[in-house]
Amino acid sequence: MGYRAVVIVSTDRKCPTAERPELSIVLPLYNEELVIDELKRRLFEMLAEITRSRGDRSLISSVEVIFVDDGSKDRTYELVSEIAREDPRCKVISFARNFGHQKAITAGVDHADGDAVIVMDGDLQDPPSVCIAMIEKWREGFDVVYARRTIRRGETLFKRMTARIFYRLFAAMIPIEVPLDTGDFRLMSRPVVLALRSLAETHRFVRAMVAWVGFRQTAVLYERPERFAGETKYPLSKMVRFAIDGITSFSVLPLRISTYLGLIVSMASCGVGVWALVAKFVFRHVVPGWTALIVLISFVSGAQLLVIGILGEYVGRIYEEVKRRPLYVIKKLQNFSDADE
Ligand code: UDP
Ligand code: MG
Repeated sequence: MGYRAVVIVSTDRKCPTAERPELSIVLPLYNEELVIDELKRRLFEMLAEITRSRGDRSLISSVEVIFVDDGSKDRTYELVSEIAREDPRCKVISFARNFGHQKAITAGVDHADGDAVIVMDGDLQDPPSVCIAMIEKWREGFDVVYARRTIRRGETLFKRMTARIFYRLFAAMIPIEVPLDTGDFRLMSRPVVLALRSLAETHRFVRAMVAWVGFRQTAVLYERPERFAGETKYPLSKMVRFAIDGITSFSVLPLRISTYLGLIVSMASCGVGVWALVAKFVFRHVVPGWTALIVLISFVSGAQLLVIGILGEYVGRIYEEVKRRPLYVIKKLQNFSDADE
């Protein structure tokens, strides 16, 4: 592993894989028992398609599928484990608890051996069939092929609007170029994967980390369908946390904004001070300025709290980073060869 020790509590060594596959598919899963059967069907359909021989060779010669069970509380683990027992190309990483989508992706990518690695959500909002277009782009020589959503079905207007605004704001704030309207559904070549593994931060905003790494990147377009079954695992509170993680991991602009805000507020209060002195000594006529006082005090204390809050966000992140804890804890691995463990 590129950066830090990953704690593995127990390992299933029954089915070691022979050699490195050409393609790895990483699927983060959290409480997705309602989706697994259909996911399996569509995934295997796509795998059959890409490994089918066309003329003298197939699009992809060998595949591994890595299911990352992110501490599910339902039967997700049992179901994917069953798939892995039937098919040694399928592997399972099972987390000791729920560590979150981005950590699940990280674990999958850390364990993926393919020359290309595709990350996709397990709820079928990232249709497996799009992978074929991604692989074709990779064959043309691109290192990162991300899937850009043209239409998002079944998501609330609020989610679509906030996502739209956030990604535009985010792109304007950070010094690297991040593709708009993309999630984590993407293909990465092995050099990108190795580079990504070397980024050690605790708060992970994988889509921007991939953009940061660089290499030749391109997009394929797709319509994002509705979640096949079950509920979103990203309620508003998690979305806000995710957005703050994204911004604070890639930009110090909020800190600069607090400096500017502080500067503006202090300049304004200097002006008000001068005006107060002039009013007192020149005009000798002081109105009981209660309203102005209240407005000023609440504005200044509001600005101060905001600035302290922003500082706190960054200090908190420094604290998280200096602890240098492993990013995730794996309870069990299934179908990984000894070398990976
Ligand atoms: N997910 C996960 N851990 C979590 C939350 C979500 O592994 O803590 C997985 C989830 O099973 C799904 C993917 O991440 O495969 C995206 O989550 P979801 O579909 O709920 O997010 P949305 O598409 O609504 O943004
Ligand atoms: Mg989803």
